[in-house]
Amino acid sequence: MACVAVIGAGIVGAASALELLRDGHDVVIIEPGEPGGEQAASYGNGTLLNPSSVIPMSSPGLWKKVPGYLADPLGPLTIRWSYLPRLWPWLRRFVPAGSTREKVAATARALKPLLADAPERHRRLADEAGVGALITRGGVLFAFPDRAAFEAEGMAWGIRRENGIKWLELDEDALRQQEPALDRRYKFAILVEENGQCRDPGAYVAALVRHAVAQGATLRRDRATGFRIEGGRLKAVRTATGEIACDKAVIAAGAWSKVLAAAAGDRVPLETERGYHVTIAEPGVEPRYPVMPSDGKMGCAMTPQGLRLGGQVELAGLEAEPNWQRADVLLKFARKVYPGIPADLPAERVKVWMGHRPSTPDGLPCLGPASGCADVLHAFGHGHVGLTAGATTGQVVADLVAGRRPPFDLSPYAASRFA
Ligand SMILES: Cc1cc2nc3c(=O)[nH]c(=O)nc-3n(C[C@H](O)[C@H](O)[C@H](O)COP(=O)(O)OP(=O)(O)OC[C@H]3O[C@@H](n4cnc5c(N)ncnc54)[C@H](O)[C@@H]3O)c2cc1C
Repeated sequence: MACVAVIGAGIVGAASALELLRDGHDVVIIEPGEPGGEQAASYGNGTLLNPSSVIPMSSPGLWKKVPGYLADPLGPLTIRWSYLPRLWPWLRRFVPAGSTREKVAATARALKPLLADAPERHRRLADEAGVGALITRGGVLFAFPDRAAFEAEGMAWGIRRENGIKWLELDEDALRQQEPALDRRYKFAILVEENGQCRDPGAYVAALVRHAVAQGATLRRDRATGFRIEGGRLKAVRTATGEIACDKAVIAAGAWSKVLAAAAGDRVPLETERGYHVTIAEPGVEPRYPVMPSDGKMGCAMTPQGLRLGGQVELAGLEAEPNWQRADVLLKFARKVYPGIPADLPAERVKVWMGHRPSTPDGLPCLGPASGCADVLHAFGHGHVGLTAGATTGQVVADLVAGRRPPFDLSPYAASRFA
């Protein structure tokens, strides 16, 4: 059995650690923050476990929209001018990555096995960690002002159908019955029943890591900085305070993985797609389903802390201060989705958060051995779908460490595709 260092304790690191322990390895989790804490994307995401999320962000005709993204600092996708030079290596690949239907369909085919059965897989992990109730499998609603708005997204839904995603169509009456809290502006919806939710992702990740430690993993509060590789074999992970001896390492540091990937021989144009959420305690409405309103570009879902509205893409790097006006945009739109939310919410009932989606230009993570040393495994860059994909990613990591053949072809995920 090997000694495996897992770098990062978000959902990807936590799931990887548990699957590695199952195979009998010694596991050291290296994480500077609180596992499942607010620094991680895994804490504040939209909570959705959507096998249907196979469509990447880059889509045909995107290049025409880039000037608008630069001009509107509060639009659903914005680029900060000052960050443009540093963003360029990502942006120049992002725009062409989805420039044709064929390219989007190829990405969707590659994502499908990573997302399939995600609610069931997470439920199993959560059950093991004693928090099974956090994972629900009741479906997710996609709400549209009318059928025409749904048909305008025909390419995306067609590709979903090609990948085996099934749904129910709800007309105005059926929608009203299923989700009375929604604004009456929405007259058509799609219900994807196989989609699910993790009601409290931060608590879930924290519980997985606690369970890993109870199973024998060591949690080291430290920051990985690189690797000691001798004769092509990994000897240790270098950290801010010294070295941790190990035979294998997993880079699962989310949006912070770029430097580590470079230290293992792969230059990956990894970026952060900064996202925001607003949580409203006692929101005055009780939605039955998580909802993605087509005109809002956001996810709305109940959590134990209240109604969470998550979304926005801001390309401004890891260091810039949050622009909390973006959270206000989400809050204002929330009232358009749920008219029952009071207009005069006391400030103490509204909590805002900003976090970093680890984003590759083509919407696929890096998953597999590093080019500079096969003992180092990449497991980062899951962008908008990392919570969903986390459980299967952990399984693939364990397969690779054990020398088992992973359950699907990993070539689309090779970091060397950016070389
Ligand atoms: C607003 C928003 C909404 C989203 N909604 C959804 C959704 O509904 N469904 C979905 O599937 N996905 C969603 N996502 C995406 C998802 O949250 C991420 O893809 C996923 O959480 C990434 O997990 P991770 O473990 O790779 O990274 P993270 O959760 O970011 O964890 C990385 C960890 O690595 C640690 N770390 C950093 N540097 C180092 C280092 N040098 N050494 C050691 N540790 C280090 C960090 O402290 C952190 O804890 C959303 C994201 C955002 C921001």
